[in-house]
Amino acid sequence: MREIPVQRAEQFYRPPPRLASDAWDHVPPAERVWRWYEHQAQRRLTVPSGMLLGKQVFARINHGRWVADCTCGSAQIVTPADPRFACPECGYGWVQVVFPKDPAAAEKAVTELVPAERNWWQAADTSWDRPPQPDEATRPQRQPRPGHPEGSAKLDLTLPDVPLPELPVPGLPDRKGV
Ligand SMILES: [Zn+2]
Repeated sequence: MREIPVQRAEQFYRPPPRLASDAWDHVPPAERVWRWYEHQAQRRLTVPSGMLLGKQVFARINHGRWVADCTCGSAQIVTPADPRFACPECGYGWVQVVFPKDPAAAEKAVTELVPAERNWWQAADTSWDRPPQPDEATRPQRQPRPGHPEGSAKLDLTLPDVPLPELPVPGLPDRKGV
C-alpha cells in the first residue's frame, strides 16, 4: 500500500495555487499557519514576538496530522521541525510545543491505519478527546445511584426495613371506624 505520511505544518500550510509552490519556503514552519490564515481571512496579521515563558502545549496526532490545541478552542497543525505555537485566531503565543522524543516513531505507530483513524497522544497529555487509559478503566467505578436501573438489585438488599402503610384488612373494621 502506498504510504500516506502524517502531516506536519510545512506540508499542510502551503501557498495558495496562484503563488509559486516555494513562495513560503523562507517562512519558519511554525509561522506558515499565519500566512495561510491571512489568505483565509483576507487581511494582514501581525505575528507575535517573544515567547510566553513556562507555557507549553502538547502535540498529538489527530486524523493523521500533528495537532496542538489553543486555549481559545482553535487548533492548528504543528511540526517538530519548529516546535512553537501561536494562534492566528486569538493571538495567544508563542508557546513551546511538546513533542515526543521520537516523532517519527509515533508516526510509524499509526501508519497502518487509515488517516481518519490515526490518533495518538503522549503519556502525559490529558486532551479532551483522549479515550480513557487502561489505569483509568480498572479504577473502581462509582456505585450506581439508588433508583438507577443498574442499582435496583443492590438497592433491595441495602434499604432499611421501612414499614409499609397499613392497608385495611378485608373482613376487619376500618381502624378509623374503631
Ligand atoms: Zn487561540
